[in-house]
Amino acid sequence: MSFFSVRGLSKRFGGLDALDDVSFEVEKGSIFSVIGPNGSGKSTAFNCINGIYKPTAGTIHFEGEQISGLKPHRIARRGLARTFQNIELFANESTVDNLMLGRHQHMRTGLWSGMGMLGRTTRAAREEAENRAHVEQVMETLDLTAVRDRPVQELPYGTQKRVELGRALAMEPKLLLVDEPSAGMNSEERDDIGERLRSLRDDLGLTILLIEHHMQLAIDLADRVLALNFGKVIAFGAPDEVRSHPEVIKAYLGDG
Ligand code: ADP
Ligand code: MG
Repeated sequence: MSFFSVRGLSKRFGGLDALDDVSFEVEKGSIFSVIGPNGSGKSTAFNCINGIYKPTAGTIHFEGEQISGLKPHRIARRGLARTFQNIELFANESTVDNLMLGRHQHMRTGLWSGMGMLGRTTRAAREEAENRAHVEQVMETLDLTAVRDRPVQELPYGTQKRVELGRALAMEPKLLLVDEPSAGMNSEERDDIGERLRSLRDDLGLTILLIEHHMQLAIDLADRVLALNFGKVIAFGAPDEVRSHPEVIKAYLGDG
């Protein structure tokens, strides 16, 4: 049984095959990178995996169970959390509140206690304290404690991306999906986010599915790399093999 697998995944928009018969497997505790030029189907793959899009064909399995066809919140509850290519945070809310909201969205009792709907039973209060403690720990891991009370819209772009990563981590995911973490970043911010993703794998044993247009970052971090172009797999394998694959070089040549 593989930890996570995609079989024959296709997604058609009108006459366009955004994804065409894509298959891959992700090993537990690894970083798996999906690369490809703009428009190659990377984000579409993510949207199929976390249930935002219904695949036209194909199946997705996580920990031995089929997750394709489930609603996004059900897939999230199985332990898949994601970040978005464009930051999707509550801009007026603080760092800590964004992380708490991320956590509440996926914890049943957390939701009730957070909303104060059931009154403060001992159990709910204890869970709330656990939620807080976990969120504090995530902020510490990502060096966000200094900005815990700042509205995220006031934070530099690179820090906002880190808050988004923190929100996904606050859900205690088993599989973290990261969509273009370095988009819009300068090289210093890119190195920083790369180091953080690497240590999430190496220190916490997290499994990461990384979508990244920036080839160097994707290749440096990955245990395995899949390259897409026009929705089709053009190369798969060890990072160095994929980097030097003629189809990959060709696909990236014409890409601005
Ligand atoms: P990438 O993330 O690799 O840049 P996308 O997955 O966003 O690529 O897009 C792949 C292709 O699918 C593009 O041609 C894009 O225009 C198209 N596409 C993506 N989402 C939709 C949608 N909701 N409706 C129609 N076309 C879409
Ligand atoms: Mg994309």
